[in-house]
Amino acid sequence: HADMAMYQSKALGRNCLSFFGPELAVKLSARAGLEADLRHALEAGQIHLHYQAVVDVGGRLVGAEALMRWSHPERGQVPPAEFIPVAEESGLIIALGTWAIESACDQLLAWSATYPQHALQIAINVSARQFHHADFVATVTDILGARNIPGAWIKFELTESMLLEDTETVVERMQQLRALGIGFALDDFGTGYSSLSYLKRLPLTALKIDRSFVRDVLTDPNDAAIARTIIALAHTMELRVIAEGVELQAQFDMLAAAGCDRFQGYLIGRPEPSTVFGTRLEPHPPAA
Ligand code: C2E
Ligand code: MG
Ligand code: MG
Ligand code: MG
Repeated sequence: HADMAMYQSKALGRNCLSFFGPELAVKLSARAGLEADLRHALEAGQIHLHYQAVVDVGGRLVGAEALMRWSHPERGQVPPAEFIPVAEESGLIIALGTWAIESACDQLLAWSATYPQHALQIAINVSARQFHHADFVATVTDILGARNIPGAWIKFELTESMLLEDTETVVERMQQLRALGIGFALDDFGTGYSSLSYLKRLPLTALKIDRSFVRDVLTDPNDAAIARTIIALAHTMELRVIAEGVELQAQFDMLAAAGCDRFQGYLIGRPEPSTVFGTRLEPHPPAA
């Protein structure tokens, strides 16, 4: 890789060095290394799910978002922002994504047996490539069927950009999964550019206000207006609205006063290993 990049940058002339120089070559080979490692990460038991609490306006635990973690033997914790794109481009996301749904469903089954008084819904992030894969609906149906779990126990988080291509198929696929009881939240809402008429066509159950608006909701009047608009829009469409990235009590209070239904963020809890999250389900959970 490195030789090739150097050769090309010379051929293109000095001005191109910054675009295709040794730095990019290093990045490319690092990425190739990451991909090679990721190929074995699942079987090597290096992939886990962490769970981040979601609460209602009264602070009651109603669910969790499952977030993938990779413990690399040499690199340590590789952030999803680094390995998810590699998984998507290489196609490994299909295996990783299926594993995440299985793992979350196994965990739900275990928690429902130990803590039958809790009815949790787990949100699972789904990548475009995974959702558009021809077997997606069948795979999900099999996972639920094998465990005899109702679809309403899970919810998929999709992003706006992934829904823009081939709307017919997307809507049809969502409807098939909705028929199983599975919910759909539009993640990072407000950062994309879907039109309202398009949004109306999607059989969603919730919108998630992007963390970037929540962060400055107390100080930036524009972000406050955007948050209020998303809440009003969601309710008009009979959707739930979840705020992500809530770090301060004042943010929680402001959003709650504006009618937000669900809250997620470091104020409530960080993403935690299942054993730690499980203590939240005990009759007398330890004080946070
Ligand atoms: P996301 O789905 O929008 O997840 C929310 C991200 O915000 C998570 O980052 C979470 O740790 C972080 N977060 C939550 N509350 C706070 C807060 O109060 N403050 C701050 N600063 N951050 C907060 P994480 O875990 O690094 O995941 C990043 C992204 O990677 C996710 O964004 C999602 O797009 C993707 N991802 C994670 N797990 C999976 C997965 O299993 N499958 C797929 N396809 N994508 C995943
Ligand atoms: Mg998400
Ligand atoms: Mg999000
Ligand atoms: Mg986000």
